[in-house]
Amino acid sequence: MSVAEKIAIYHSTLKPSGATLVAVSKFQPVGLLREAYDAGQRIFGESRVDELLKKRDALPSDIQWHFIGHLQSNKVRRLVGATALIESVDSERLLSLLDAESERKGVVSRVLLQVHVAREETKTGFAPDELIQYFRARRFESLRATHLCGLMAMASNAPGDMARIRADFNSVANLHRQILDICPDLRGFETLSMGMSGDYRIALGCGSNMVRIGSDIFGSR
Ligand SMILES: *Cc1c(COP(=O)(O)O)cnc(C)c1O
Repeated sequence: MSVAEKIAIYHSTLKPSGATLVAVSKFQPVGLLREAYDAGQRIFGESRVDELLKKRDALPSDIQWHFIGHLQSNKVRRLVGATALIESVDSERLLSLLDAESERKGVVSRVLLQVHVAREETKTGFAPDELIQYFRARRFESLRATHLCGLMAMASNAPGDMARIRADFNSVANLHRQILDICPDLRGFETLSMGMSGDYRIALGCGSNMVRIGSDIFGSR
């Protein structure tokens, strides 16, 4: 199936749920992104700063770029101002750096906080308890140029273990509800970015409203 056909199928499959499709185009050539763009896709996810900036230069300016990879502090300066959403903010230190750089540049950065729920040690993100503490103490009030838009997470890499994957996604959805209970005045903290090619159906069942699909659209990397 072509990239254009895949995009059309995802758009119609996701329509009833209202979930947003992020086409994860990391390591894919610009030609394939163009194909997805021509099929109506406007949101692309990249995991490396240099690659995102290069593709951004080469493609139409109405694309919304999402950063989904681990963001190193020395790349913050170049990324700020180039994205519609940074989905992978995984520490308070990174959040502070992003906020300072956004203020310096006179932009507001929209970000998701990445939560670590998978069993792999290698995956990064805030521990759920850490985020509860962060919101209880209302430390987000010190942000000056950053809008917290919600949570992002990956489930355990456990193909076939639906119960495990569902448990991971449910714990993120619960955490999201808990945060809104703790801070009912938090505005626009509504995005729950969960689900990739192998597990997006489970994620949607757990309340995801943003899925990040790479290999099922573009083929293997
Ligand atoms: C690569 C990646 C995806 C897409 O994964 P696929 O299995 O190719 O759909 C989604 N989210 C993140 C954070 C990724 O790094």
